[in-house]
Parts: sequence; structure tokens; C-alpha cells
Amino acid sequence: MATDMAQLRREIEAAFASVPYPGDDGIVGHKCWECDEVLAKYKGKRWQDYKDRPLTLVGPPYRDACMLFTPQAFRYYAPLAMLASAESYQEADMLIDYFLGSLAPTDGKHAAKHEARLTAFTPAELRALLSFLAFMKERHPLDYATGPDNEEVVSLEKAITTRLGVTEMRGENAPPGAKE
Ligand SMILES: [Zn+2]
Repeated sequence: MATDMAQLRREIEAAFASVPYPGDDGIVGHKCWECDEVLAKYKGKRWQDYKDRPLTLVGPPYRDACMLFTPQAFRYYAPLAMLASAESYQEADMLIDYFLGSLAPTDGKHAAKHEARLTAFTPAELRALLSFLAFMKERHPLDYATGPDNEEVVSLEKAITTRLGVTEMRGENAPPGAKE
């Protein structure tokens, strides 16, 4: 079940097509020089305008901006983080680590923040996230399928699957593939 990049890109673009811009006041939830810098960089930026060159917005030196994003902004720019990490793994330079590290379940003091980010995604978006994780495990097995980051990937996959079960039970979503 190899996923090719074009297929992953189509799935990500379709899943996030109508995600609303969080608003200039909804990008960071805090005020300090770091958050101000992230706000200045991202303010008014539509993810769709960067889908063919995602690194220019979410890549270095702003690859850790997702740690400061509100759940709404994290969701909004997630497609760019996934596209950049999948297509330009080396150049993205740890972007995926910041991305996963801001979303995966944790016992630490950021537990509620991570959960709020995950809860912001729709079922279609969550499924695109699962495809992205499967793609990264397949392409970079030493990092994500067996390496030290595997634990984080597995716990995130489990959280997403649980979340998908909850939303499907509530009838917020048609079964996978129903629209095709
Ligand atoms: Zn701050």
C-alpha cells in the first residue's frame, strides 16, 4: 500500500480545502517577542498561496512556529507542515519533529494544549494526518517506523484513531470513502 507523494498531496489539499483562516487575532495565543515574530510572519497568509512552496512559509527559520500556534492556526497551517516535511524532508530540517511534538499526546504540562490541537481537526483532516504519518514511516523507516520517534508516531496514530471513532459515533462524519 505504497502511497505516492502526488496522492498524499491530493489528499492533504482536499481535506484542508475549506479550513477557515484563524484570523489575525487567532494565530498565537500569547504575547511575547517570539509570538509577536510568529504573528508578524504569518498574519494574513493563506496556506493555499504556499501549497507549492510550503518551505518558504513553514520551513527554517520558522520551522518551530507551530509550537506557538493556537489550535486553529495549528490546524490551518498543518497542510503546509505536512507537505514540506513529506516533499522536502532534509530542507525542512526537523519541522516534522516540532509538528509532531506539538500534537502527539503527552503527560507533560502541555497535555491540554496538544489535545486541543488534535480536537480542532475534522475527520477528513485527521485521515489526511494518518496518511501523512504512514507516508513518513514508509519513506523514513529508521526515523519513524523503528527509531526513537516511533513511540510518538504510534501514540499520535492511536489518539487520531480514537478521535475518529468518537466523531463517527456522533454522526459528525460519513464513513471513509462514502463521498468518492
Ligand atoms: Zn509567547
